[in-house]
Amino acid sequence: MDEQVRFALQEQLAQLEQQFGERLQGDLADLGTLATELQHNRAPGNRRQLMLGIRERLHRLAGAAGTFGFAKLGERARQLEQRADRWLDSAKPGSRAVESFSRALQQLASQTPGQERAAAELPDHHDEPAPGCRIYLLEADPVAGCSMALTLRNFGYLVSQWQDFAALQQAVATEPPDALIVSVQHDSELESVASLQQGLDHPLPLLVIHERIDFTSQLAAVRAGAQGFFSRPLDITQLENSLERCLDRQQGEPFRVLIVDDDAELAARYSLVLRNSQMQVQTLTEPTQVLETMRSFNPEVLLLDVNMPGCSGPELAQMIRLHDEWLRVTIIYLSAETDIQRQMAALLKAGDDFITKPISDTALVASVYSHAQRARSLSTALARDSLTGLLKHADIKEQLALEVQRATRSGKPASVVMLDLDHFKHVNDTYGHAAGDNVIRALANLLRQRLRRIDSLGRYGGEEFVAVLPECTALQARRIFDEIRVRFAALSFYGGDSQEFYVTFSAGICQTDGHTAAGVLLERADQALYVAKHKGRNLVQVGEH
Ligand code: GH3
Ligand code: MG
Ligand code: MG
Repeated sequence: MDEQVRFALQEQLAQLEQQFGERLQGDLADLGTLATELQHNRAPGNRRQLMLGIRERLHRLAGAAGTFGFAKLGERARQLEQRADRWLDSAKPGSRAVESFSRALQQLASQTPGQERAAAELPDHHDEPAPGCRIYLLEADPVAGCSMALTLRNFGYLVSQWQDFAALQQAVATEPPDALIVSVQHDSELESVASLQQGLDHPLPLLVIHERIDFTSQLAAVRAGAQGFFSRPLDITQLENSLERCLDRQQGEPFRVLIVDDDAELAARYSLVLRNSQMQVQTLTEPTQVLETMRSFNPEVLLLDVNMPGCSGPELAQMIRLHDEWLRVTIIYLSAETDIQRQMAALLKAGDDFITKPISDTALVASVYSHAQRARSLSTALARDSLTGLLKHADIKEQLALEVQRATRSGKPASVVMLDLDHFKHVNDTYGHAAGDNVIRALANLLRQRLRRIDSLGRYGGEEFVAVLPECTALQARRIFDEIRVRFAALSFYGGDSQEFYVTFSAGICQTDGHTAAGVLLERADQALYVAKHKGRNLVQVGEH
């Protein structure tokens, strides 16, 4: 980080902390007053009301205090919040419990915040909110719009809302967003969106929410450039999934293409054309090296010449098809062959498509691009869990082992996080399995949004997740996951009968130390998770070695 930026940031932080310190004194004084009221007010209804208000304040305090360097105070507030919770949850809340609770609350309120301040560290790149993707939302209904915007913001998107098309059009012209979400009632509105898209250099990724789901409405959506289509009632987590997919498609890694052609000049020419379209290309003029290069380069598309000395294209393709690990690679023949019979024969042996030379540059790019895209989405679908799109159990374990090795080599600490939803059996039992699935998906999306690209994330079990954060200490990881925890707790879900509910999670963290094996680190994170559960859940716990 630039020294000057660092300094400015530190100053801003100091200022924020001072402001928070002042606010904290006011908050604590208020809590003190509420504690006294609670002690003297004996009517059960009033007590409950007071307790609800107190719990809310404690919750805010617990979240904010830790962030601003008042860790112990935050811890204490969290414990009291949990006591308040238990009191509110119990069928017959006792008044003895109220007495001791209000005394404890008064104790907290009488603290001088300055006394136990821990030095706040300068946040690293983790804490700077990732420059979220900018989404423009067109929704005529302000209430529906606000609630959608709120949920998407919790996922980390920057959302701007518009109620009418003209305003949206103006905004897109001034500063185009990364994606558009439009909610429409008639196909004619989609025609306006289509003409808006045509006026742009590159059409924007578009998601459509439509009143109807018939053929003509979907056709109108596709004509406007839609990559996702939704109807009401809106499943917001599914919409977020789709949003993520179309944003990811824009910024994914370049496709990898391997060209095998004994004519070196021709191979160089194809390579140039494809590289110009942001693909990563390797060429081979010697077919015998193909297996080695497949292994090292791991291409998604293979362009094969048909007639080569020593070994023909179809023979090479058949050899590649002997290896299961390359099943996902698309094989395209490139050949001057005009004899349709021989082309068919080659395709029947192995291979997926045929392009006849001479081939125009645009046709080459289009063909390779579409095959590569298809190959990639298939391979993503295979390696990833279908509900969440995260790495599966075996893959995240493998990734963990890799990152632990890397951390050992670099000497920089990495963090392992194990996360489990709280009381999830109860969620399933009360609101149904489908609602439970939605919760799992929402958490996966939120985690993906809040973590960096270099972090790995997997679905370890049913409602358990594992994350590996390179170059990140356990304390930094705790801060990140605490923020995610608060955001997640604020997401509302709907059960089968439209009943609103909230869910929390607990997490355990441990840090690499340069010699402990991946499996042991995972166990430590799991033990820390167990401690978090034991302490009352909705908590992020750092493990001890
Ligand atoms: P705790 O706070 O101690 O974690 O309580 P819990 O109820 O969450 O307990 P536990 O972790 O043992 O329960 C896991 C439950 O998660 C059991 C199972 O019904 C549910 N579950 C696991 N996988 C899925 C899934 O894919 N979808 C849904 N809807 N539920 C799942
Ligand atoms: Mg579990
Ligand atoms: Mg659980």
